[in-house]
Amino acid sequence: MEAKIIRLASRPKGMPTLENFAFDAQQMPSPQEGELLLKALYISVDPYMRGRMSDAKSYVAPYAVGEPITGGVVAEVVESRHAHFAKGDVVLGTLPWQTYCISDGSGLNKLPQKVAPLSYYLGILGMPGLTAYCGLFLIGAPKAGETVVVSGAAGAVGTVVGQLAKINGCRVVGIAGSDEKIRYLTEELGFDVALNYKTTHNIGAAIAEACPDGVDIYFDNVGGEISDGVYARINKFARIAICGQIATYNATTPPVGPRVEGTLLKKSALMKGFIVSDYASHFGEATRDLARWVQEGKLQYQEHIIEGFENLPNAFFGLFTGENTGKQLVKVAEPSPIQT
Ligand code: NAP
Repeated sequence: MEAKIIRLASRPKGMPTLENFAFDAQQMPSPQEGELLLKALYISVDPYMRGRMSDAKSYVAPYAVGEPITGGVVAEVVESRHAHFAKGDVVLGTLPWQTYCISDGSGLNKLPQKVAPLSYYLGILGMPGLTAYCGLFLIGAPKAGETVVVSGAAGAVGTVVGQLAKINGCRVVGIAGSDEKIRYLTEELGFDVALNYKTTHNIGAAIAEACPDGVDIYFDNVGGEISDGVYARINKFARIAICGQIATYNATTPPVGPRVEGTLLKKSALMKGFIVSDYASHFGEATRDLARWVQEGKLQYQEHIIEGFENLPNAFFGLFTGENTGKQLVKVAEPSPIQT
């Protein structure tokens, strides 16, 4: 079985380009005792991968140059010599960007095949959904009537944050990068207001107008000037969940901005960074709630799926140019029909 592979060829400086990736192919051996042969079905591209492409110290180790990129993958078991997995099982794991790979089963979670589309386990029922749930509820602690602002509002995490805040009776203001996204947020997801930061001249003034009662919770996916505009409008006892800073991930010099400490002090506000894995003890309850709300139609969910393994780098670049509405995925292969 020949596997296509995408490796990190070099570390990007600024915005990544195709030159930073190397396309390769390799014959996969048959699985040995205790191993599985997996076929990738859906591969996730996520903003945090940009951090792993650099060699700066972070919460996850950098990718090694010359090695396959790894990330969230939904894969089907093609051949198994592992006691816990059978041919036809579908699993979720952190796996290499390969069309086929050999695994020893560690870190793989078997997925139910009839509950939700398999791709949802890389989005609303997976890491991005859990990030939205844990960041909003465990840091934001929303109360009915409060105003929640979310940046990166039309993406995988942001769309879920805004809808969860609406379920909790909050007024929700989203910030995103196109008029189409603004329409989607307000007309389909029920956001109260959405602002296009690319066409809004003074984002701070627009946030002030959109939040006449100030900002109680800011769920930050983006950082940079958008956040500067929000901080100036926070209320007493505001909660700020620092989830992501995508506006700065390709920066080649450290970004500088207004000093926010004085505002936090005067407003008795909480600002807390988090990594979703900090809240692993809440994942069971979070997944159950998210799945129930999806089934009840309380949570809408959109995916931006590009077909074809070779399109992985382009799908990844699209995260930084705002191509995606909802969760960006690459579909690599069709799952086999479910055996009944
Ligand atoms: P996403 O929002 O689906 O995709 C990224 C979006 O960011 C793009 O669609 C784009 O939308 C926006 N963007 C890109 N460059 C921007 C810029 N310079 N300024 C403003 N917006 C920009 O990605 P996601 O997976 O949901 O992740 C969202 C954020 O959460 C990222 O920062 C990510 O690193 C973070 N995250 C953190 C955790 C954690 O554990 N803390 C877990 C998951 C994700 P526009 O069209 O609106 O520009």
